[in-house]
Amino acid sequence: MTRKTDNWQEALDLLVKGNENFYMGATQHPERGRETLFAQYVQQFPFAAILSCADSRVVPELLFDVGIGDLFTCRIAGTALSDAVIGSLEFAVEGLGVSLLVVMGHENCGAFRACIEKEGHANVRGISWQLTPVIEECKNQGITEPGELLRESIILNAKKVARQLRSLGPILGPRVTNGKLKIIPAYHSLLTGKVVFFDPVD
Ligand SMILES: [Zn+2]
Repeated sequence: MTRKTDNWQEALDLLVKGNENFYMGATQHPERGRETLFAQYVQQFPFAAILSCADSRVVPELLFDVGIGDLFTCRIAGTALSDAVIGSLEFAVEGLGVSLLVVMGHENCGAFRACIEKEGHANVRGISWQLTPVIEECKNQGITEPGELLRESIILNAKKVARQLRSLGPILGPRVTNGKLKIIPAYHSLLTGKVVFFDPVD
């Protein structure tokens, strides 16, 4: 096995094409059998890393129609950052040579909904302290309609997390600066299955 590409633009093109397969209902289901797993027993070659929500409806390998070993995925409720998440992503970039990192929020995210409606279990506080300021920032921009507030908060969070990661030393930030790594925010629609990628500097 080898990596499908080391080039971030080609990696993004693969994700865009795979997602098109998904939302058009034309998935190829590539390389998901045990032979693919066995072939990567010694080493893995993911071409992209995805930070997304733990939501059961958000499954990057299916959404992007890729196989075993193609994506390094970190899934945490609300697509929130923590030291463990950052360490995982740094491993993907430094240890596995990934050149594209996508920070993907998704439509109707329950973690944001819980923060907006101030519901949820006690331990949601471990995430809500990060999500609530984003929601407040959207409110301060005059966004008050509940559906719009939910959507815009999720998108703003993906953009803010991407921005934070881009400026983070010593692994991610310098690689972004020298062009070896792109960190791109994105939004996944549960209604259509489509993933919208935002500008790499958003
Ligand atoms: Zn979610």
